[in-house]
Amino acid sequence: MQNGSKNLSFEFFPPKTDKGKEKLKAVIEKLKVFSPEYFSVTYGAGGSTRAGTLETCITIKEKNELACPHLSGIGSSKKLITEMLDEYKANNMQRIVVLRGDLPSGSVGHGDFPYALDLIKFIKETEDSFLIEIAAYPEIHPDASSADNDFQNFVNKVEAGASGAITQFFFEPESYFDFAEKCEKRNISIPVIPGIMPVHNFEAMTRMAKNCGANIPNWLQEGMQQYPNEMDLIKYGTEVISVLCNKLIDFGAPGIHFYTVNKEEPTSSIIRNLSFN
Ligand code: FAD
Repeated sequence: MQNGSKNLSFEFFPPKTDKGKEKLKAVIEKLKVFSPEYFSVTYGAGGSTRAGTLETCITIKEKNELACPHLSGIGSSKKLITEMLDEYKANNMQRIVVLRGDLPSGSVGHGDFPYALDLIKFIKETEDSFLIEIAAYPEIHPDASSADNDFQNFVNKVEAGASGAITQFFFEPESYFDFAEKCEKRNISIPVIPGIMPVHNFEAMTRMAKNCGANIPNWLQEGMQQYPNEMDLIKYGTEVISVLCNKLIDFGAPGIHFYTVNKEEPTSSIIRNLSFN
């Protein structure tokens, strides 16, 4: 930690090609300078990136940084999850981001873990040494039957033993402020770290936001559309996201988790703009 009193963390996905793996090593070197609390690595539902997630975590460890694998339960058996936990433990990984995950469309069978809560309980019962991070949804998860039920699910995950939470990305700071207020009312004391998506590509961001139910406000959509040139878009986005992050820091957010999409920039430039104190 360690920019002032704030925790930073950086999320990667497992690269598929040798070139991607080499590029990621260079990105880790560059982001290390910010002394992050950890680097996390996503995991494909049903075990589709099992080897890649572990390999990427090992690469992070080889750079003397803490690696935090994600683990999603949907579509998986208890046997597979037990093997994964054993692998993570054998490689000295102490923190896991525990998720439900999303099955690719057309998949059948939710396996032994239909919800993240089921996986958290299983981990607590079988291997209680892991620190568990969970997902939080300030703008409500798209499958939720109601906002209240979604928040109650979050509370259930906290009560099942989560040590911290990372939010889905959002662009309006009020989404986080409102979520933090709800946490306070329910006496939730674990750190809820805002998950921040730097602006990198209009189409990709719109697609990701649609998939996960994140709102791209009209002012941001219109703003991004003014910059068809990628460099200009990134410059504009860096300003917008730096303002968002500084509002969150001023509010008292305990840290920031960056969805880096395996790139150093614009994450690095945003961090340099932050008003840590
Ligand atoms: P849950 O907490 O289980 O909630 C899923 C939905 O089910 C919610 O709508 C909830 O309200 C509802 N629900 C919960 N319990 C019940 C119940 N008993 N009855 C009815 N409804 C219920 N996905 C990946 O595949 N791999 C990753 O590495 C990954 N990393 C992520 C990292 C972060 C920080 C975030 C925010 C998301 C990540 N995701 C990842 C995406 C995540 O898997 C999806 O958002 C998924 O749809 C929900 O996962 P969850 O853990 O929040 O699920």
